[in-house]
Amino acid sequence: MTLSVFSVGLLLLFGLAFGSFGSVLVTRVPKGKNIGGRSKCPGCKTQIQNRDLIPVVSYLLLRGKCRNCKRKISLRYPLLELGSAAVIVLPSILEGYIDPFTVTLGLTLWIFLLLAVIDHDSQGIPDVLTLPLIAVSFFSSYFRGNLLWEGPILGGVFFGVQWLLSRGRVLGSGDILIGIAMGFILGSWLPTLIGIGLSYVIGAIAAGALLITGKYNRKSRIAFVPYLFAGTMAGLLLGDRMIMFFIF
Ligand SMILES: [Zn+2]
Repeated sequence: MTLSVFSVGLLLLFGLAFGSFGSVLVTRVPKGKNIGGRSKCPGCKTQIQNRDLIPVVSYLLLRGKCRNCKRKISLRYPLLELGSAAVIVLPSILEGYIDPFTVTLGLTLWIFLLLAVIDHDSQGIPDVLTLPLIAVSFFSSYFRGNLLWEGPILGGVFFGVQWLLSRGRVLGSGDILIGIAMGFILGSWLPTLIGIGLSYVIGAIAAGALLITGKYNRKSRIAFVPYLFAGTMAGLLLGDRMIMFFIF
C-alpha cells in the first residue's frame, strides 16, 4: 500500500491502540498480573470508563487527572501511547510504503519499546515478551525479502559470550534474546555491530550523566535494554549513512 494521509492515519490509530494495550502490559506483566480485565485508577480503584480509555485524547480531556478522585494520572501513559504509535508508523514512513515488512518491523519496535520500559522499571525482562520479540522480528526479516542470519547470530553470540564469562552478572539471559532480535531488525552483521556499538556509546553517556547528577551510584544495576533500544533505533535511522561513515 502506498502512503497517503488515510493509510498513515489508519496506521497511527492502530499504533495508539497498541500503545494503550502496551500501558497495560508494562504495568501488569512484571507483577505477574492477569492482562485481561478492566483498568482501575491506582488511587481510588474505580474502574476506568470506556470514554476515558481513548489514547492521549482522554488524558488531555481529563487534564491528566482521574475523573473520580482527581489523582494525577502519570504522564508516562500518554507518552507511551505516542511513542508506540511513532515506532509502529516509523518503518512505513522510512520505506515510503506499507506492507507486511514495515508493519511487522513496527510491531517489533513496539515490543522492544515495552521491554525497555519494563527493564527500566524492574531491572529484568519477561520471557512472555522477549519470545514474541524474537518471533515478530524474525517475520519482519523474512518479509523484507532477504532473511539474514549473520546479524542474529552476531547479536546472540556477542551477548551470550558476555553472559557466560560473567556467569550472568553483567547482563541477564534475556539480553541474549534481545541481541538476536537486534540482528533480525538491523539485518547483516555490519549494521548489527554498529547498532550494538551505538547502544554502548549511548549507555556510557547516560550512565556518566546519571553518576554525575548522583541519580546512580557505582553499585546500582543499570537497566541495559533501554540503551539497546536506543542503539537499535539510531542504527535504523542512520541506516546506510552510518555504514558509509564507518567505511570511508
Ligand atoms: Zn481515581
